[in-house]
Amino acid sequence: MLKFLKQVSDYTKETFQAAKYIGQGLSVTFDHMRRRPVTVLYPYEKLIPSERYRGRIHFEFDKCISCEVCVRVCPINLPVVDWEFNKETKKKKLKHYSIDFGVCIFCANCVEYCPTNCLSATEEYELAAYDRHDLNYDNVAMGRLPYKVTNDPMVTPLRELAYLPKGINDPHNLPEGSVRAGKRPEELLEKMEK
Ligand code: SF4
Ligand code: SF4
Repeated sequence: MLKFLKQVSDYTKETFQAAKYIGQGLSVTFDHMRRRPVTVLYPYEKLIPSERYRGRIHFEFDKCISCEVCVRVCPINLPVVDWEFNKETKKKKLKHYSIDFGVCIFCANCVEYCPTNCLSATEEYELAAYDRHDLNYDNVAMGRLPYKVTNDPMVTPLRELAYLPKGINDPHNLPEGSVRAGKRPEELLEKMEK
């Protein structure tokens, strides 16, 4: 008899607990029902990446001195710098440069430490490919400049969260002349230098 009563008590406890969890889950759902949708209709609409976005890396072949600093600072030693020694000029001559963006973690360490600034992080994030080997970009592919979202006539550019006015998180139908809540990086730099 006692065993039966314990079973009933456990069952009741579990039922109440399950009802509590279902209630918690539904409270989140109902909370979202009161909010306006902020869905971006990609690829017809695209968000403008923030100024410090670390996207696909751009490479300038002529500036590279084959020092391999980018390889040493990369957490996974990813950049491949193929060079030969020119006996006449007694300098390294770059032959090929490549980064496999299928492996890269976009930390931009290589960009930070390159002594000649021949690497830069672009705002390109659309790198999907059918074959992962296509993501291994050589110096020609890395030398291509990305097409800006704001220059694409087929796309409606929308302000990313960092560019929205205070208290607004929907980038659609913003009032004319509305200004962003935060400061631009150059404004922050100016303030720090003062
Ligand atoms: S750090 Fe810069 S200059 Fe040096 S090998 Fe890498 S890309 Fe070239
Ligand atoms: S972004 Fe980071 S992971 Fe990618 S190549 Fe540069 S240092 Fe390596």
